[in-house]
This record gives sequence, structure tokens and C-alpha cells, in this order.
Amino acid sequence: MDLNEKFMKEALRTARDAGRRGEVPVGAALVLEGRVLARAGNATLARRDPTAHAEVVALRRGARRLGNHRLTGATLYVTLEPCLMCLGAMVQARIHRCVFGARDPKVRASSLFRLPRLRRGLNHRFEIAGGVLEKGCAGLLQSFFKERRKGRREAGGTALTRPRGPRRLRAS
Ligand SMILES: [Zn+2]
Repeated sequence: MDLNEKFMKEALRTARDAGRRGEVPVGAALVLEGRVLARAGNATLARRDPTAHAEVVALRRGARRLGNHRLTGATLYVTLEPCLMCLGAMVQARIHRCVFGARDPKVRASSLFRLPRLRRGLNHRFEIAGGVLEKGCAGLLQSFFKERRKGRREAGGTALTRPRGPRRLRAS
């Protein structure tokens, strides 16, 4: 089997697990020297953490496991085209390559990231490739959002998407 597909399947598995927990089903697998160093699914709801995207959680786990905040030579597989925050985190981690599955047609952060002006300003560059197992990765997200819309209609409102936790902000 194609290595990219093999590792993307690992990422897809974690994405499915995240979906079962009610998170947006995005998963990541961090690979170093041909082995999976860390896996993670989206965990923004469970952790009540806006930065707990699959990629960031996988990078943190991988770095902890390796005992090094630099993940030189690592490849990060992720089921959805990463956002700018995650691409920034990959720069900080000094990864070697990022391979994603489904494209994010609205944002296309990976193409923004290729802008020469931006690239020149970065202290580390890495390769980004997309479209691996694209159908499976995109299909998982599509069915998740379809189900969620259906659930919302049945609940008669937006209750399912309302964030948990305090609703009102206290003046500081
Ligand atoms: Zn992200």
C-alpha cells in the first residue's frame, strides 16, 4: 500500500473517533522515521480549547513523547487542509512535511501559505501536499455536518451547537 494512504488511514481512524465524541471529525497522525509517533483527533469541545485542533494536539503529544519541541523530519498527516494556526504550529515544530486529505475550498490556507512573501518571512519551510484519500476524508466531514443540521432541525434550534460553559461574560 502507498505509504501516504497508509498513514492517512490512521488519521482517518482518529477523525472517526473524534466524530463519535461529537467533535468535528478531523484526525491527525504524526509520523517519524516510518512510525506513528502520535495520533490525535479534534478535541476543541472536550477540552474547551479553541486551539485543540487535531494537528496541534498531535504535535504536542509527539513532542512530549520525543522529549523535544522540535519535530525535525516528521510528517504530519491530517484529514482536512490545515488552518493558518495549525500551519503556524507546524513551522514552530520544524516538521518536514504535511500531507492532508480533504481540501478546504473556502479558506485554502495551504495555498496562502505558499505565497512567496509569506514564505520569505518564515524561519522554516516545509512541503505541503493534499488530496490523499480525499473522498473518504471529505465524506466523513460532509456526513457529520449533514447529521448535525438534521439534529438541529429536529431539536428546533441551535441547541446542539451552543458551546458548553458559562454563557455570560463577567466584566473584568
Ligand atoms: Zn487548525
